[in-house]
Amino acid sequence: DYCLAPVLIYLSFNLLDSKASQGELGWISSPSHGVSAADLIHISYLRAHLFCRVMNSSHQNNWLRTNWIPRYSAQKIYVELKFTLRDCNSIPMVLTCKETFNLHYLETDEDQGSKFREHQFSKIDTIAADESFTQMDLGDRILKLNTEVREVGPMTKKGFYLAFQDVGACVALVSVRVYFKKCPFTVRNLAMFPDTVPTDSQSLVEVRGSCVNNSREEDQPKMYCTCRPGFYKASSGNVKCSKCPPHSYTHQEEAVHCDCERNYFRAEEDPVSMACSRPPSAPRNVISAINETSVILDWNWPADSGGRKDVIFNVVCKRCWPGPRQCEPCLGAVRFLPRATGLTNTTVTVVDLLAHTNYTFEIEAQNRVSSQAPTIRQYAAVTITTNQAAPSAVTVIRKDRTSRNSISLSWMEPERPNGIILDYEVKYYEKQEQETSYTILRSKATNVTLNGLKPDTTYLLQIRARTAAGYGGSSRKFEFETSPDSFSISSENSQVVLIAVSSAVAIILLAVVIYIVISRFCRYSKSKHPDEKRLPFGNGHLRLPGIKTYVDPHTYEDPSQAVHEFAKELEASCIAIDKVVGAGEFGEVCSGRLKLPSKKEICVAIKTLKAGYTEKQRRDFLSEASIMGQFDHPNIIRLEGVVTRSKPVMIVTEYMENGSLDGFLRKHDAQFTVIQLVGMLRGIASGMKYLSDMGYVHRDLAARNILVNSNLVCKVSDFGLSRVLEDDPEAAYTTRGGKIPIRWTAPEAIAYRKFTSASDVWSYGIVLWEVMSYGERPYWEMSNQDVIKAVDEGYRLPPPMECPATLYQLMLDCWQKDRNNRPKFEQIVSILDKLIRNPSSLKITASTASRPVNLLLDRTSTDITSFHTMGDWLESARTLPCKDAFSGVSYSSCDTLAKTSAEDFKKVGVTIVGPQKKIVSSLTTLETHSKNGPVPV
Ligand code: AMP
Repeated sequence: DYCLAPVLIYLSFNLLDSKASQGELGWISSPSHGVSAADLIHISYLRAHLFCRVMNSSHQNNWLRTNWIPRYSAQKIYVELKFTLRDCNSIPMVLTCKETFNLHYLETDEDQGSKFREHQFSKIDTIAADESFTQMDLGDRILKLNTEVREVGPMTKKGFYLAFQDVGACVALVSVRVYFKKCPFTVRNLAMFPDTVPTDSQSLVEVRGSCVNNSREEDQPKMYCTCRPGFYKASSGNVKCSKCPPHSYTHQEEAVHCDCERNYFRAEEDPVSMACSRPPSAPRNVISAINETSVILDWNWPADSGGRKDVIFNVVCKRCWPGPRQCEPCLGAVRFLPRATGLTNTTVTVVDLLAHTNYTFEIEAQNRVSSQAPTIRQYAAVTITTNQAAPSAVTVIRKDRTSRNSISLSWMEPERPNGIILDYEVKYYEKQEQETSYTILRSKATNVTLNGLKPDTTYLLQIRARTAAGYGGSSRKFEFETSPDSFSISSENSQVVLIAVSSAVAIILLAVVIYIVISRFCRYSKSKHPDEKRLPFGNGHLRLPGIKTYVDPHTYEDPSQAVHEFAKELEASCIAIDKVVGAGEFGEVCSGRLKLPSKKEICVAIKTLKAGYTEKQRRDFLSEASIMGQFDHPNIIRLEGVVTRSKPVMIVTEYMENGSLDGFLRKHDAQFTVIQLVGMLRGIASGMKYLSDMGYVHRDLAARNILVNSNLVCKVSDFGLSRVLEDDPEAAYTTRGGKIPIRWTAPEAIAYRKFTSASDVWSYGIVLWEVMSYGERPYWEMSNQDVIKAVDEGYRLPPPMECPATLYQLMLDCWQKDRNNRPKFEQIVSILDKLIRNPSSLKITASTASRPVNLLLDRTSTDITSFHTMGDWLESARTLPCKDAFSGVSYSSCDTLAKTSAEDFKKVGVTIVGPQKKIVSSLTTLETHSKNGPVPV
């Protein structure tokens, strides 16, 4: 049994296609004016025959007759018409308007030429449009094409004409195709089947076959011809044609399957009997449940699954920063449970996210036909911020040394600290004791020596890190043994030996230290620029034994020796420059990549020394590397190396994606939480503590000299000697000739160049102010001279808007006139740590708080309670520009002051718009205080 789909035999088609010229067409029209050029219009890319005499008379009867079409063996003839039809309502002032036309035919045995008799024709049907077009569609160039097919027959004569009768419509006939169907001669399985023209399209037509030569008939071969449109038959067999499944239609030449409608598809493995389907719509109602650094995402099944059951979900994770489109794909560390793609359930758990970080998750639904659909992603998104989380577990522990009764261990910081690690807890016990008694030690460093252990004993040890969020997970149990009592000497003897050895080592060490100190002192005294020198004990702190001390590269006779002592020489071929990211004093700053042999490629910043430099410029340029190369701290920009043996000379450092802190804050004005800002400040303070411990005085600490990476980690940068101040556009010459960034510099450093870590603390206070005001310029547009004068008289910057009182107090403490009263960086770090641990302490803003609990000092050096009335204040304000903004004034009544107009501000010397808003806000605050009597701010 076979079923053969009939093929279409065209008798005539595309009568008005673009190739047919008017002459070739040869159709006749009645009333007989012929098919004129006016009747052919262009609609989009198609030519069409147009009837549109709606304005002429109310009785229209226009005919268009085709050429004579021979019938051949056709019995049933199919006529397919494509046309557009104008909506009558959209035509103004019509006399007659119909939205249909008629299709007629006439059978003849021969071509009658131009003889045309209307009444000889038989009507096939009235043709109406499914869609008519309006004036607006014409304007938008929308072509609403209708397709209608009509069946005529059975026919008996040799040929026929078709005719179109227009009775007053506005119709453009675009294409006419005339065809019949036949199952052509075919040979299947040694049986031949003749040409068969089905008489009836509705049912199966049986075709009898005969055997091919030299074959024997067992049963008469049979075949079936015809499936009517909309039906198909996928395989041979005496079964009926099946109706096309939903969202499919038959290809008219083939009926073994049905094709999918537009925007519907069939997956490769879908049977032809299956409905065509489409991609699902987006998942709905995504909800998130955050638990520290993990999140559970749940969503609802899409409203439209596209007609399939095989819907799966994919989750895309993006890490986001405030601001428009500031997202990038999450790094590999983030894990999805059970997985990120191909999810069959409507939930996923995402773990190992970073704490305090914004993420966006896009959940898309897909099914097996999604890949065939146009690439419009259907997804639902949810944005979350992770909470503070305890650190992850310590995983790498190393045994450095063991002896009879001690062991030295070191370990690596947990992979995800999720904050600042305050300390580590080391718990250990004898293995035999099974944790019934144990010892706990705390260490700030990532190493510890356990003393007082029993010889030849097995111990177990666990380490866990602690941050403000609490303890992290414990490491796995680490087993170690102390050395056995194998020495033959008695313990008394061994002690004697130990003392003797230690004394010898101590004497040698002492000699070395004395030698270094003396030689350095000699070199130091030889220096020609004592003013420019970094004091080895710059901040007056006693150097802690064991802490490295900064070595001034200028103390080297040959500065290039210093570079090679502290900086690694890199091969230029390992460096790829990508683009310019900034301009330094000596040349461009570029971003690029560094690939060292057997190391992973990393992103780097590359500072170049522009061509034509002098020897001094080269020395100064490289001095930054000599300084930076001595530091190793997470909040100090890390030097990767230098290129000095080829040109251009380069300094290669780690890459800080977000550039300088001042610009970064201005770009993200008011977009961070106070905790995030304090986190950044804590980093800067920690870097500065390290520098001051090393004996390095920065002298140019300012937000513009802090760099920010993609994790919001702030790192101190811009190290140099003379260039520190030469390079900085903020630096101005003082009366004593030196160049100093006035607004950031402590008064004693401006007055008599007393640069110490305490003057760096003053600058840190200004950075604190810059950060809390999102990159506002300190003292706004005041002149340097006015700043020096105001500060000298005891006036200080007012609190930035919404600045927590505790932070403003810290600023005031950093701006103590007497440098001995300023906090040390170590104290600043610990204050900020406390604030991070206790975020509620940041809730009271300086503008609403009474004076906060004193952190370090009682008050600023100014007598800030001396003005009590409005009159006093205005009086004093007249004598000093911006006095209002910088003094800690209190008032008995400030109603009037809060309403101070711009004019009034002008009177007191404040002419710019920027600070005025802030002044009003700080003055309005005073009004609140005044209800409880004068309160110093
Ligand atoms: P500097 O000469 O150090 O002041 O650098 C000039 C500019 O180059 C800075 O303001 C930054 O915008 C950019 N820059 C310097 N170092 C880096 C770095 N390590 N990563 C990214 N950008 C940097």
